[in-house]
Amino acid sequence: MKIGFIGLGNMGAPMAKNLAAAGHEVRGFDVTDVAVEGVSQAASAAEAAQGADVVVTMLPNGEILRAVAAEIHPAMEPGAIHLDCSTVDVASSQAVAEAASGHGLSALDAPVSGGTGGAAAGTLTFMVGGDAGAVETCRPLFDVMGQKAVHCGAAGMGQAAKICNNMILGVTMIATCEAFAMADKLGLAREAMFDVVSTSSGASWSMNTYCPAPGVGPKSPADNGYRPGFAADLMLKDLRLSQAAAATADADTPMGKAACDLYARFVEEEDGRGKDFSAMLPRFEKRHRG
Ligand code: NAD
Repeated sequence: MKIGFIGLGNMGAPMAKNLAAAGHEVRGFDVTDVAVEGVSQAASAAEAAQGADVVVTMLPNGEILRAVAAEIHPAMEPGAIHLDCSTVDVASSQAVAEAASGHGLSALDAPVSGGTGGAAAGTLTFMVGGDAGAVETCRPLFDVMGQKAVHCGAAGMGQAAKICNNMILGVTMIATCEAFAMADKLGLAREAMFDVVSTSSGASWSMNTYCPAPGVGPKSPADNGYRPGFAADLMLKDLRLSQAAAATADADTPMGKAACDLYARFVEEEDGRGKDFSAMLPRFEKRHRG
């Protein structure tokens, strides 16, 4: 396929590289000068989009996505697909989908999980919202960039799935970290804590797969000085998106709000910026009740 790829950052660059390596003709654009193996450079987003069957965007936020969409949609051929893989607010995703259909285009919101490691290895999971036909057309691209693509429903439902998942993740990571810190203070060995909880009803991905305690469970960022991994800053971004969506949908999310407030404090007032989101454990260890 002919593919335009806009936003060649930490995630976009390896995704574009994998598409090119699989034999697709990829033209890329980023506001900063980046060279990606196998990807030809366009002079503008519109130029990257011209004549493409699919234009992928991988951008920082909804505002930038809306601006880029306004630039590329008029340049795209009717029938082409705008595949947005950024994590943005549900409202921006839906607005971009509506704008695309006004130009005779299809749009998919397909945020990913799996991080930069998954982007490089081509093992991302895509959560996809939009038209089923467009999802099928993009299936070969999902297969190159990822290991799984789940069609979640209409436009915006990919973003909805992503922020609901990450709201659970933020909450369970905090719960796992505060419980580990309490276990330490009670004198319970971390290895025993892991052995019990990982096979009991307190189990979760945060405990079993991404254990925040160094030297316990499978290898995780805790074993690498809490270098991300999945940065606390990015978790905060996703929790803020989930709170914005909760406000729009009139959903009561007390745990999601508490997690959002705590990550905001950790990143913006304490020393959490640039650390993995599981660094909540050393944070709790240092603290006292009240
Ligand atoms: P990044 O900041 O490394 O990359 C974004 C790129 O977009 C940058 O290179 C930037 O120069 C470019 N850009 C900004 N404005 C532009 C414009 N108007 N036109 C063209 N290019 C423009 O961010 P990232 O880590 O690659 O993340 C991209 C998206 O993926 C975000 O929405 C993020 O939330 C999501 N995401 C990231 C991760 C991760 O682990 N990094 C995991 C899952 C999802």
